[in-house]
Amino acid sequence: MEGEKEAGVSEWVELQAARLRYLDLNMHRIASKPRNTSESYTAFDVLMNMYMRLAKLIDAAQNTSCTIRCGALCCHFPPNEITVQMDLPSISGIERLLKSSGRDFKNYIAERRFKGLPDKLMRALPRELFVFERDGVEKFYEVRATGPEISSEKFYNLPLRWDGTRLWITRRSVACAFLDGDRCSLYLKGIRPICCSDFMCSMAVSLQLTKYLGYLDESQLSGMSLPELKRVSDRLFLLYGSEELKDLEMELHSKSIAFVDSYLRGDLDGRIEDFNRSYGEYLSCRRKLFEEALNPDFLASLRRLFS
Ligand code: SF4
Ligand code: SF4
Repeated sequence: MEGEKEAGVSEWVELQAARLRYLDLNMHRIASKPRNTSESYTAFDVLMNMYMRLAKLIDAAQNTSCTIRCGALCCHFPPNEITVQMDLPSISGIERLLKSSGRDFKNYIAERRFKGLPDKLMRALPRELFVFERDGVEKFYEVRATGPEISSEKFYNLPLRWDGTRLWITRRSVACAFLDGDRCSLYLKGIRPICCSDFMCSMAVSLQLTKYLGYLDESQLSGMSLPELKRVSDRLFLLYGSEELKDLEMELHSKSIAFVDSYLRGDLDGRIEDFNRSYGEYLSCRRKLFEEALNPDFLASLRRLFS
């Protein structure tokens, strides 16, 4: 695969989102165009299917519930740095949780003045997520990372962010105070701090998206060690950014836009069959690319290497 792009997954998703936006933009005209022939009914159905497919795909790509058992890599932070900024509903949940188990809230959460935040962070974070006012003073809660240092296995298998940039984690990073083994003790109690529920790494995105597309199933992932998961996701990440997949997507993209325009012009002669054929060819070429990337020899070699 030549010409891979680091931001492979995000570019791929962006192209699908651009098609969805085009449909959205023209939806009023599409819906109000009279459907007075069986051809126009069929074309309308094709467009609605395209719309639903894209909307579901974008939803799946933006779903930030990570189901990959990586050992909670993204719950590690460089020591002495700001880690998790807690929103007030989560704080209240934690207070209730600690109270019910007779533990001291202040051992878990350090309370600081808002003015103490570094400028960089103040610019980067939406204030309403973590700032509150008490006695006329604006404050925020910050959770200190107090857990054990990240293990070598985890560190050497760190994923990238899904735009291809590096994560914040260093060799000396330690676990978030709320990490219990490999699981978030807050999540286990139904508390999801906003800033933690809005993150997906390249590994989670590429594996979950590929599962959504139907080229990978849970049974293939279950039992995989972190190094195996990382290598499978790296391969997929490269595939999403590859020239082969990009050419395929660009072709489908222009054909889809052309099909919308033909429908709006009322010029459907032979277009439905052409579009359906192109879509079928696209799906079969795409399947081939994913099957090549996840071929059984590659998966077996990973098992041999890391078992
Ligand atoms: S609060 Fe939970 S999800 Fe958030 S960083 Fe800590 S352990 Fe991870
Ligand atoms: S988002 Fe990535 S790093 Fe975080 S838990 Fe999921 S797979 Fe691990």
